[in-house]
Amino acid sequence: NETINKIAAGEVVQKPSSALKELMENSIDAGSTSIVVKLKDGGMTLIQIIDNGFGIYVDDLPILCHRYTTSKITAYEDLSRLTTFGFRGEALSSISQVAKLTVCSRRQGEALGYKAEYVCGDLLNPPCVYAYDKGTCITIEDLFYTNPCRKRALSDCSELFRNCWDLIAKYSLHYPHISFKLFKGDSLELKTPGDGNQDEPLKSLLKNCNISREIIEIPTTKTEFCEYSGMISNSQYSLKLKLFVIFVNGRLVDSNDLKKLVNEIYGKFMPKSSSFFVYISIKVPSNEVDVNVHPTKLEVRFSKESHIFAEITTRIQEVLSVSND
Ligand code: ADP
Ligand code: MG
Repeated sequence: NETINKIAAGEVVQKPSSALKELMENSIDAGSTSIVVKLKDGGMTLIQIIDNGFGIYVDDLPILCHRYTTSKITAYEDLSRLTTFGFRGEALSSISQVAKLTVCSRRQGEALGYKAEYVCGDLLNPPCVYAYDKGTCITIEDLFYTNPCRKRALSDCSELFRNCWDLIAKYSLHYPHISFKLFKGDSLELKTPGDGNQDEPLKSLLKNCNISREIIEIPTTKTEFCEYSGMISNSQYSLKLKLFVIFVNGRLVDSNDLKKLVNEIYGKFMPKSSSFFVYISIKVPSNEVDVNVHPTKLEVRFSKESHIFAEITTRIQEVLSVSND
């Protein structure tokens, strides 16, 4: 069982940014409007995330890091009605298998906050009272101390940091009403206002390109199969970066198929350059999307994927044709 837990953990947590993604999704699920992340050595020494969400009940602390502990699902059928990110209760348990994990939290409406430390899924000591503001702080130290090979393979701290920076920048664009801060040691490396406006997050993500000239908005569009909205770069300008960001039902995912199609469209308009920015948010009924394909939940499948991809690529093509007239 111990071994199974460790293997499963290695799949969920592949590097600091995959742990961070799980933690951020938990903070977002908890209704946070402020998320502060601190990293040391690209996250290998320290990942700390502080949110102002509704917090964790003290009674939940002893089992928090047990596998399949989740407050978000009660029956298997619930899987098709998921509206939150979490559902399998695997993230915290996996992280605690490969790192030292500490939770400080004060539940909304409770007078006291608590602190709990975990090793390999279990509490080190009973949770103790701890002065804390409303919300949750999760600290992960010495990632992969249990797995020296994995640790050695992840030695490029600046790349690991960049992965985390990218992740937060993308989430800040999709969640403009949440203020995000990212610290590398003591230095503030990313900050978004959380005022509901996407301009600042977009500027950081695109490293200060000229948004008004280079980016075209695709307003929310309802179709037979889905609802989508987004922003794409104007093919007349060379952005000098290639960035494809797709959220499905509020979750950052990968879709190599859609990315390939988008790449081909831009190739038609600007044959010599291969740079573009495309951000698409797709909403589909939760029973039509299968997020359970892969442990990291990155790859999604929808029941009407080909229709949805066709609608979106047609729209992008139209928008680019108009802007090139
Ligand atoms: P899941 O998100 O799949 O439920 P996790 O292992 O990610 O599983 O988290 C386990 C549980 O811990 C969650 O269901 C939630 O109740 C609680 N939790 C984790 N992080 C937070 C947080 N930042 N704020 C409030 N509750 C949290
Ligand atoms: Mg979760």
